[in-house]
Amino acid sequence: MSPGALTRFVGILRCSRTRLDQAARAAEPTRKTSVNLCDGEIRVGPVSSDEGDPPHPVPDDKDWTWVLEHPCPDCGFVAGGLSREAIAAEILASTPRWQSALRRADAAVRPEPETWSVLEYACHIRDVHTIFATRARLILDEDNPEFENWDQDATAVEHRYWEQRAEVVAGELDEAARHAAAAFSGLSPAQWSRVGRRSNGSVFTTETLGRYYLHDVAHHLYDVGA
Ligand SMILES: [Zn+2]
Repeated sequence: MSPGALTRFVGILRCSRTRLDQAARAAEPTRKTSVNLCDGEIRVGPVSSDEGDPPHPVPDDKDWTWVLEHPCPDCGFVAGGLSREAIAAEILASTPRWQSALRRADAAVRPEPETWSVLEYACHIRDVHTIFATRARLILDEDNPEFENWDQDATAVEHRYWEQRAEVVAGELDEAARHAAAAFSGLSPAQWSRVGRRSNGSVFTTETLGRYYLHDVAHHLYDVGA
């Protein structure tokens, strides 16, 4: 930790809307929402935060692969209801919604100290597009590859999401989404069935990777009310 850095225990990141939902759904304590939809890696303990930076939220690191089997009770995404041929179009269709949200006057304002702003969520989705495009191409190019881990929270801090410019992010997000959509386009049945795995052992086909990825995009659109 650098001199002057402040170590804090920070709370589980939850979107403010979901906090209300959770209060109403106390009977379903295991279904709380966190931001960590992408890797399911376990990381616990304090997170250092340089003085002057906003607090760094810590997700609760649940494995979200269940969204492939069950509708998401928060955002309503139904992975099984999405045809694989629609994945690329759905990726592209999400971009205008993110761009519209980024034009809000308060896009860079966190609704709560430990809840990402629209800008920070959009930065995350931009990078999610890139990560999942890379993983799709890896599945298609290699036999049973293991995906590199991605620490999305470290990425957010490293790239200082909260300081990025919304209009720049809007363009980058569009470009990243197009690359990702291309990776999931024009695939043969055999290509859709190719497999890769995360370091925790979760196995994905190209098809389930696409569905899992789209839930991430949809869930965070829900988080920001877009
Ligand atoms: Zn969801």
